[in-house]
Amino acid sequence: MNWKKIIAIGLTGCFLFSGCAEQRQNAQKMGEEGTQEDSYESTTFAMDTVMTFHIVAPDGEDLLIDAEQEVKRLEKLFSVTDEDSDIEQINDNAGDKAVTVSADTLALLKAGKQLGKATNNAFDMAIYPIVKAWGFTENEYTIPTQETLDTLLPLTRVSDVTIDEDASTVYLEKEGMAVDLGGIAKGYASDKLAELLKKKGVKSAWLSLGGNVCAIGTKPDGSPWRIAVQNPADENDYVGVVEISDACAVTSGGYQRYFEENGKKYHHIIDPATGKPAESGLTSVTIICKDGTKADALSTALYVMGLAAAEDFWRQTGGFDMVLISKDGRVLYTPGLADRLTEVEGSGYAYACIEA
Ligand code: AMP
Ligand code: MG
Repeated sequence: MNWKKIIAIGLTGCFLFSGCAEQRQNAQKMGEEGTQEDSYESTTFAMDTVMTFHIVAPDGEDLLIDAEQEVKRLEKLFSVTDEDSDIEQINDNAGDKAVTVSADTLALLKAGKQLGKATNNAFDMAIYPIVKAWGFTENEYTIPTQETLDTLLPLTRVSDVTIDEDASTVYLEKEGMAVDLGGIAKGYASDKLAELLKKKGVKSAWLSLGGNVCAIGTKPDGSPWRIAVQNPADENDYVGVVEISDACAVTSGGYQRYFEENGKKYHHIIDPATGKPAESGLTSVTIICKDGTKADALSTALYVMGLAAAEDFWRQTGGFDMVLISKDGRVLYTPGLADRLTEVEGSGYAYACIEA
């Protein structure tokens, strides 16, 4: 993945319903009243996105620094612009030799590979050559020819990413291959941050990493955190609010990054079967589950799959909730959200619960 800014449009997919109105550059103590007394919040830029951390704890100010350091540490491992990063090393040595990587890189690539398999390759962490061909890595957009795509598609097979856990090495079997963790790294980072903060005793916090929101515990008063799901058609609007506690909510949407040519929009979520932006009839997918890494990979994968296949995937595997927004104006959610999703009256969308 390239951390360079591509086109980040509007909000980030899902966001804290009441907590994101203000962004603060540094750690700030929030209101002095009641339970908010020990709330601290800071905003940082990492992994090509704006991140806001909100921690409710007496030592919140120090914890914010710990969290920022942790995310910068992970960014250094996963960046493709930093020559020394694990990912840059892996990509540089594609088709040549195996590279020794950190435990975090190994864990993330292992999860990526497993989620690739689970989604029948709709999530493809080896998609980088195609993402690059469309210009999403450098902001220099082009529509690749079919010939180019045909040449590159064989270089995007996750089965050619060889992970040797005992040796802590990763090898890309073919020259020209490259891994792209853009669809999963923020999820992994949110899991690591939550783990770190929980270890330090945090019982109430939320972490917003671009379109990834991870909630630790509940609000100080015991009520769940409220996450808004962005309206794909209007960056300043949302289509629903989902209540979560101790879980992550991750949104993928074509509206988040795209370019336009001859009146047609080309977005950044690629269907690995065609090498082209997924045209699946969905405009947004939000996945809610405890595991932020899984939620991140699934949001990308289910966007690629489209409505019917996403529903089938959920029925067959379970273990997560989701909100799907379709091009034809429907908001579909899993039964687990029936009591936790507040619809927006007059939004123009038709809401329906997916049958189990
Ligand atoms: P997300 O916003 O989590 O859906 O991730 C989208 C990003 O993941 C893109 O900007 C690409 O860097 C990368 N990507 C695009 N298509 C795929 C795919 N099918 N599988 C995995 N990663 C992808
Ligand atoms: Mg994702």
